[in-house]
Amino acid sequence: MIEVDEIDVSYGNIQVLWDLSMYVSEEDNVVAIVGPNGAGKSTLLDVISGLHPIDDGDVSLWGENINSLTPSDIVKQGFVHVSEKRNLFGEMTVRENLEMGAYTQRDELENTLNEVYELFPILEERADQRASSMSGGQQQMLALGRGLMAQPRILALDEPSEGLAPQITERVFEKIQEISEDVTVLLVEQHVNEALAMADRAYLLENGRIVEEDTGAGLLESDHVTAAYL
Ligand code: ATP
Repeated sequence: MIEVDEIDVSYGNIQVLWDLSMYVSEEDNVVAIVGPNGAGKSTLLDVISGLHPIDDGDVSLWGENINSLTPSDIVKQGFVHVSEKRNLFGEMTVRENLEMGAYTQRDELENTLNEVYELFPILEERADQRASSMSGGQQQMLALGRGLMAQPRILALDEPSEGLAPQITERVFEKIQEISEDVTVLLVEQHVNEALAMADRAYLLENGRIVEEDTGAGLLESDHVTAAYL
């Protein structure tokens, strides 16, 4: 589904991803990318989303090279990225935020909206409330719901637990697990333990390079991961 082949990526003169290769296949429900702050995890998601250019190498989605596609073309291909910043429209209602996520026809929009409400009943209860009036956890649910409104085949989530209390984080992870039964999830997380526990496969990214790659369970047992992150 995703193939990243030996990419180099920079901000100006500063290279931040080095000869990086990774993939996500049809068999994967959850693929995790873990690593310290500044390792390049968000940059990798930005590159696959078409938000940041590649200096060298290739990115393909479903076999098609996307190096020169626009972010909106990439969403239409089925890759949807829920960024760390959530990017909600605070002054708009919950329902309006969800509708903004839809790249679909009106009748399909209603069906998709009902599916999202089924997964997140709180969003239906709060449909007419302004997004900014919701709690941090509810806003994260809204960001996930809005991502699903585009009917993704792959949902990329950048630090979905960012800024949330442990109990809320647990609920968000349960929802991600539920989502992954239908949609492949590419998960960037600082909660290494939880992310690896739910991942079929995982990559450890340090200083812009993939340094380990294994099943989630395998990486959880790696001496390096245990010593540095758990
Ligand atoms: P975090 O969890 O802190 O977001 P990350 O693993 O997602 O970390 P990135 O945000 O991708 O890492 O950052 C990778 C490197 O690129 C870091 O050294 C960071 O300082 C640098 N970087 C990120 N965004 C920019 C930018 N807009 N301009 C210049 N450098 C940047």
